[in-house]
Amino acid sequence: MNYTPLGNTNLRPSTLGFGASPLGNEFGTTDAATGVKAVHHAIEHGINYFDVAPYYGTGLAEERLGNALKGYRDRVILATKVGRYGKNNFDFSAKRIRQSLELSLKRLHTDHIDLLQVHDIEFGDAEQIIHETLPEMLAFKQEGLINFVGITGYPLHILKRVAQAVPDIDVVLSYCRYNLLDTSMNDVLLPLIKANNYGLINASPLHMRMLSNEGAPDWHPAPAKVNEVTQKAAAYCREQGASLSKLAVQFALQHPNVATTLVGMSSPELVDLNLQALNDPIDTELLKAVQTILAPVKNTVWISGQPENNDPGAVVGNA
Ligand code: NAD
Repeated sequence: MNYTPLGNTNLRPSTLGFGASPLGNEFGTTDAATGVKAVHHAIEHGINYFDVAPYYGTGLAEERLGNALKGYRDRVILATKVGRYGKNNFDFSAKRIRQSLELSLKRLHTDHIDLLQVHDIEFGDAEQIIHETLPEMLAFKQEGLINFVGITGYPLHILKRVAQAVPDIDVVLSYCRYNLLDTSMNDVLLPLIKANNYGLINASPLHMRMLSNEGAPDWHPAPAKVNEVTQKAAAYCREQGASLSKLAVQFALQHPNVATTLVGMSSPELVDLNLQALNDPIDTELLKAVQTILAPVKNTVWISGQPENNDPGAVVGNA
């Protein structure tokens, strides 16, 4: 396992990071005890970065991760979020995010969070996030409740705008915008990340499970056509005796400027599959063939958040 500096922070996350949203049953019911085993297995194999949020299972993922981390807290980098509490439940006010952080600290059985992020900024008012939410989070940093501050979201232009407006932030988390189905993170966000040396985190290398044999969950926001084409690529990989999900994780892990790539995991078996993806060389012939199959739907961007925060060309999706 390699460990890369996260921008200007003193954190060195593992190349493969543990996404804990499945512990909150976001991709179907998962077993609590198996989830604990997954966390311990990941730590034993060098994964030191854990990402969670109050939104995932409305507190369940934090509770389960907090229980699993008892006795391991000082061995890991713990990242959680504020501002999103349900599919359509957002509150980016200073008062609410302080309450949210207090609850997260309790659920996670810790006295500090290594990285606190504003969750899905596109659903908020950018002016409030710039002038109220982030200043309050920078105050949490001064108070010793958190070590670093970040923002997360799906549309790239709003991430860029907010990161430009508040240069004191440390980290930007982008999801579903750098993987086999979409690489636009590189064009829109990467130049600013490099110029300011922000830490860059890439989440959802499986495009929220679409790039797998199981396919997208019902709630997946991409237009149905994207999943149809992706399932052709999954079938092609199966015919070759290969796995689309392995290829997808390998593709994302190769990014030279991403400090950690977050994959959602809830069992030791999934941890092993992704460690294997990390350690095996990528099949470049298979990659070319799969990229050709996916080309017709590449960089399909769906609407997410407030209309003014959407990326140009975003289309109405499935959810
Ligand atoms: P993902 O692309 O990582 O897909 C997760 C799904 O794929 C789960 O159902 C998991 O069981 C399955 N899976 C994992 N490894 C697999 C493998 N090797 N083969 C087949 N299936 C596999 O999507 P995600 O979970 O949404 O993203 C990863 C993490 O990133 C999340 O858990 C969360 O922590 C974080 N994230 C954050 C934001 C945000 O802050 N706005 C958004 C998306 C994701």
